[in-house]
Amino acid sequence: MMKKILIIGAGIAGLNASKSAREVDKDCQITILESGSLNTYTRTRIPHYISGETSLNDLTTYGDDWYIKNRINLVKETKVTGIDVNEKMVLTDKGNYYYDSLIIAAGASPFKPNIKGIDLKNIFTIRTIHDADNVINSAKKCKVCTVIGGGLLGLEIGHSIRQLGCEVNIIERNERLLPRQSDSIASSLLLDALKSKGINVYLNGETEEFVGDNEVSRVKLKDGRVIDTDFVILSMGVRANIAPFDNIGLEIGRAIKVDKYMRTNIEDIYAAGDVAEYNENNYCIWPIAISQGKVAGSNAAGKVTIYEDTKPHTQLKIPGITLFTIGNIFCQDCESLQRFDKDNGKYLKFFLKDGLIVGAIVFGEVSLPNKVRKAVENKKKFIGISNIDELLESL
Ligand SMILES: Cc1cc2nc3c(=O)[nH]c(=O)nc-3n(C[C@H](O)[C@H](O)[C@H](O)COP(=O)(O)OP(=O)(O)OC[C@H]3O[C@@H](n4cnc5c(N)ncnc54)[C@H](O)[C@@H]3O)c2cc1C
Repeated sequence: MMKKILIIGAGIAGLNASKSAREVDKDCQITILESGSLNTYTRTRIPHYISGETSLNDLTTYGDDWYIKNRINLVKETKVTGIDVNEKMVLTDKGNYYYDSLIIAAGASPFKPNIKGIDLKNIFTIRTIHDADNVINSAKKCKVCTVIGGGLLGLEIGHSIRQLGCEVNIIERNERLLPRQSDSIASSLLLDALKSKGINVYLNGETEEFVGDNEVSRVKLKDGRVIDTDFVILSMGVRANIAPFDNIGLEIGRAIKVDKYMRTNIEDIYAAGDVAEYNENNYCIWPIAISQGKVAGSNAAGKVTIYEDTKPHTQLKIPGITLFTIGNIFCQDCESLQRFDKDNGKYLKFFLKDGLIVGAIVFGEVSLPNKVRKAVENKKKFIGISNIDELLESL
């Protein structure tokens, strides 16, 4: 009998799970259940969709013909509400689906903190194209946008909205930008670069209240600063979509715990992407969702495949600002090589251990991120390097 592989979520993890399952087993039945109404699209480029640089068509990974050709049954507008583990059956708002192997790839949702006034109108989060459309409509009517959260996503969204002609404020609660993905030199270069693009950044800004009469009109910070605004975007991290799965006996930490095969603690149930936690890490980033999806799909279809934890890298996608970091950028027992050209806004820092680059920060050098990423991923050895010029030449 044909094996039934069921996938919850048509994000990038779910799509890659379906692809690798099909590669392994040409005959199995593959069904993806998706609550949204669209084929998989590149979520990471939503900021470019907001600024008008790209269209939904460009973002869409595959058209309907690809699903037909690969015999992947994408069932849209169908929300999973639970799992009956004994019956090996997934419950949805449109009926039930049986599985032999199940992959949970339900992703994550933006975090909405319990701040006074959070339910006022014109306060948005961004996860989907639909959310992006709401923000574009607001930007057309409004003049000032305030983004709460100066992480990578908050900065990229802020920049997109700036390109639509709005004044943009970014509120960051830390004393510097991207404290986990950059050091203090890179943070201050980034701050200058954003200012030069006309973006206002408020550091040490803890939001106390959203004020307004039906619609938000001001953001009040705990230190007394008050910022007038027409609309607000919350960019305060995400939480795994575990609600439909939290009472079926799955081991859950920040997200659904998986082993190196992307197996959960329940037989024949796998998890991958933003909804999964491997080795206590729930990274919530694109490349990891892809590789975990592939591993889950392959194992679910019967080919033993092992997930190798990758060194996460971050790259800010704002035209004109190159900020790339990879690996451990706070390594204490590493050799470090750096070059800082303040006048030209360029900064490089490498952390080396046993001849390997274990961490790096690149600011302002467009040509380097890819080379550095490849050197780290391919575990390229740099032996006998005594200064940064020699390192750059050997990259
Ligand atoms: C605007 C934006 C920009 C980003 N930029 C970057 C970046 O530059 N670099 C980077 O590494 N990462 C970035 N990320 C994060 C990255 O997009 C995610 O890590 C990645 O999309 C996760 O993929 P996923 O398949 O695990 O989850 P998702 O993409 O969230 O997909 C999960 C799918 O499951 C569906 N679903 C959820 N619950 C149910 C249910 N109960 N029933 C049926 N279907 C359900 C959802 O509708 C969704 O389609 C960005 C995210 C956003 C929102």
